[in-house]
Amino acid sequence: MAKTVSIAIDGPAGAGKSTIARRLAQELGYCYVDTGAIYRTVAYFMDILGISPKDADGVAKYIDELTVEIEYDEAGKQHMIMNGMDVTEDIRTPEISQNASLVSAHSFVRDVLLDMQRDVAKKHNVIMDGRDIGTVVLPRATVKIFLTASAEVRAKRRYDEMIAKGQKAELSQVLKDIQQRDYQDTHRAVAPLKQAKDAVLVDTSRLDIEGVVAAIKAIIAEKVNP
Ligand code: C5P
Repeated sequence: MAKTVSIAIDGPAGAGKSTIARRLAQELGYCYVDTGAIYRTVAYFMDILGISPKDADGVAKYIDELTVEIEYDEAGKQHMIMNGMDVTEDIRTPEISQNASLVSAHSFVRDVLLDMQRDVAKKHNVIMDGRDIGTVVLPRATVKIFLTASAEVRAKRRYDEMIAKGQKAELSQVLKDIQQRDYQDTHRAVAPLKQAKDAVLVDTSRLDIEGVVAAIKAIIAEKVNP
């Protein structure tokens, strides 16, 4: 099998990872894998069962009853299938964001999902976004990007997104949620969010989407078929 290309994009919540990764995947013809959606699916499953994401014993007891599949529709959009049910939209709530951050701190949860993520990258050219792609999931990724922005800028983007979707939101609460998730994701013992030594840092605070896409495309072009 020909060697595949993998582009890892890590960074905190709201840095623009999924928007940028989706755009790049479309332009390059790569498969886009949003790994946060996988953790969200686990969190959603536990929520339905009434298991607290902090309850390691409870999560461990039921995780084997969960099957997670990733499917893509004709437009290339990633769908999350939880035990045969499409939960793509259900996992996008502020509660599930927080629960995903808590449930993802258990090492056994991360272990279960690791092979699934690596398998996709073995079979396809991928742009994979998450928190530990460059450090743990694909340590030998062809290109590693660490995408970030100030917490205030990220909160404002998330807030605008929610308002555009017709959801209720308060900017100060969105900022609090983002800061809490940043803290949890960077301070957990297993696979914490951090920039890989060989990742290129891209700060998107003062760039628009076009600017970020252009910057990352230039970084990719240096490493892929130079
Ligand atoms: O990227 P997204 O905001 O959808 O991720 C939800 C949560 O899942 C994150 O806050 C993080 O705790 C967890 N996550 C992770 N590792 C990844 C992707 C997401 O721990 N590779």
